[in-house]
Amino acid sequence: MTLATAIRTRVRVEGTVQGVGFRPFVYRLAASLELSGWVLNDERGVLLEVEGPADGVEAFVRRLRSDAPPLARVERLATEPRPPMGGRGFRIVESERSGEPVAPVTPDTATCEDCLAELFDPADRRYRYPFINCTNCGPRFTIVRGVPYDRPLTTMAGFEMCEACRAEYDDPLDRRFHAQPNACPDCGPSLVLLDRSGRELPAADPVGAAAAALAAGRVVAVKGLGGYHLACAAADEEAVTALRARKHREDKPFALMAADLEAVRELVELTAAEQELLRSRQRPIVIARRRPAARVARGVAPGSPDLGVMLPYSPLHHLLLREAGATLVMTSGNVSDEPIAYEDADAFDRLAAIADLFLVHDRPIHTRTDDSVVRSVGGRAAPLVLRRSRGYVPESIPLPVPAARPLLACGAELKSTFCVAKGDRAWVSHHIGDLENWETLRSFREGIVHFERLFAVAPRKVVHDLHPDYLSTEEALAREGVEHVGVQHHHAHLAACLAEHGERGPAVGAIFDGTGYGPDGTVWGGELLVGDLTGFDRAGFLRPVRLPGGARAIKEPWRMACAWLVAAVEDPPPPATLAGAVAPGRWRDVAELARTGVASPLTSSVGRLFDAVAALCGVRGRVNYEGQAAAELESAADRSETAAYPLPLDGHGPMTLDARPTVLAALRDAEAGAGAALVSARFHNALAAATAAACERVAAAAGLDAVVLAGGVFQNRLLLERTSERLAAAGLRVLVPERLPPNDGAISYGQAAVASALDARGG
Ligand code: ZN
Ligand code: ZN
Ligand code: FE
Repeated sequence: MTLATAIRTRVRVEGTVQGVGFRPFVYRLAASLELSGWVLNDERGVLLEVEGPADGVEAFVRRLRSDAPPLARVERLATEPRPPMGGRGFRIVESERSGEPVAPVTPDTATCEDCLAELFDPADRRYRYPFINCTNCGPRFTIVRGVPYDRPLTTMAGFEMCEACRAEYDDPLDRRFHAQPNACPDCGPSLVLLDRSGRELPAADPVGAAAAALAAGRVVAVKGLGGYHLACAAADEEAVTALRARKHREDKPFALMAADLEAVRELVELTAAEQELLRSRQRPIVIARRRPAARVARGVAPGSPDLGVMLPYSPLHHLLLREAGATLVMTSGNVSDEPIAYEDADAFDRLAAIADLFLVHDRPIHTRTDDSVVRSVGGRAAPLVLRRSRGYVPESIPLPVPAARPLLACGAELKSTFCVAKGDRAWVSHHIGDLENWETLRSFREGIVHFERLFAVAPRKVVHDLHPDYLSTEEALAREGVEHVGVQHHHAHLAACLAEHGERGPAVGAIFDGTGYGPDGTVWGGELLVGDLTGFDRAGFLRPVRLPGGARAIKEPWRMACAWLVAAVEDPPPPATLAGAVAPGRWRDVAELARTGVASPLTSSVGRLFDAVAALCGVRGRVNYEGQAAAELESAADRSETAAYPLPLDGHGPMTLDARPTVLAALRDAEAGAGAALVSARFHNALAAATAAACERVAAAAGLDAVVLAGGVFQNRLLLERTSERLAAAGLRVLVPERLPPNDGAISYGQAAVASALDARGG
């Protein structure tokens, strides 16, 4: 190489490029192309200079993007010519610790192929070591205590690397260069098996002993990445029944973990998209159609035609599944609706009455994260994310209008998340849970402090729901010295979906959910909005009915059947389909509440309409977990049925969807013995057709071409698919949630999108 032909280029790389092996990758790439220069990490990402023949430098820049390491995400790449300096060799310059870190923390990632090969290689020094990891895989978010992302600020701080591990960690050419959780059997965390009183059981091979206990029908608490799981053999009827009884969980399905794709295929039918999701590095729970021959105990998912399955995502899981040789139930380590246990002492307190044995390790978990849950949707590449947590968090999501001032958005109440944002980036928290007990509130508060530190966001604006009684609203308003902004619940749903697609609106939104605070003092939940990020008009809604007895109506769907029938026929007799479930006297009392409105607010909730239909056709009159009746009604539907009940639109004034004829038709069918499959299908068809027709009319009147479908009701795949198809056929652009859930898990991000847009407008 002669100086005359050499060029020098400076490259600035931004995105997820730290803690993911980016500098060693740059080093190897430069070395292979015989270029000289240097690379370093700074507060904005990676900065580097390379020098050499022009074609070599060009190839280098091209391959920076195309060949980047698996966990890296190159968002921006800017080059700048520099005068050649004629140096030799390429070096990695130590990090400059100035300025604020931008995105130092990546999500926890499933064990990579290289690590797996070592895990099962008897000649490897990490053979069967449950904590094997490298720059391309392993724990991240769950072990980070602070920034910069460096070993002393992770829960690995207490483990000093042995010489061999240290050498890997220091070698830019090694797969474990600066892999913060790097460890081996000599220096890293270890496993023990304990009984429920915390006594260590002498076992040379704790995993083998745990697997034997599982095979013998025991329940084992297993400490994982983001918390404790409760495990038992999935085919063991008695063990599953015992686990359900001890957990006080009546019907809500248990998730399963299967050893590999072959094993998953024996349980559920898998589309190509579902296989992709199962194998993705996020390793979510994928909900798929169960096979009739699946060898799974009845108690795993009572009343559901689906099963939620995941593949092993940590080395411990790989070892355990291989030893067990059978599919395991892997449900969250908690009692009933409490948050999942993640601290050791707390886990023993809470799980000792459930688990027979504890398989635990000494690497602390800093942040509790649940398994993420997804479902694939027909005709779409992106899945429906039902719970966004481990594997996805804390990846940032862009904001279409940058936040002029750093902000915090506190979200809603159920399926709560919060979100911090500055500039054009928003970080939505892991799934926190339902903000109704002290333990969840504590996670919420600590999570906010943690995120503010990790992403260096000092909020000057704090956003909340308009509901005055939400704990998240109280928390937001308790912050002093900041500006407070309230965002209407369904506007936040609309904004979240627009913003994750990089859009600002205006668009039409059909926002259907269970409950949201309406500015008119009623409970909203079936809203047709026309709006953008800064504001909205209510263009229509589901005809409101009473919520007889308030919150009790949510637990007892038969009350909603009663309210809808009262709205339709004034004094309805108790339907024959509910005869066994409701005493005539109680029916009369609730009908009276619905007529008079005593302790019974008006609601336009589509979620409650689903409850009413589910109760009428005998699916269920009472629920023991949120959304149960609607989920079972969807499952029951005969997908080949094409008929639909009437569901007229009333266009005088704001448009109303009048579901009274729908409910009456459902009742007639049900009393004639039509069965839930038919009633459910005809109801779904009616709602999809009416929603699409209403959106088309609103879009035409407003001159808009885009429709957002969001809100918890659109977790319903049948409704989502049928409504989208109709809208698309009418030439409208359909936007549905992809990166965030349709449910209230997206509210915090929607609030952030609204607040930043208002700020930019000077509002
Ligand atoms: Zn690895
Ligand atoms: Zn070591
Ligand atoms: Fe909602």
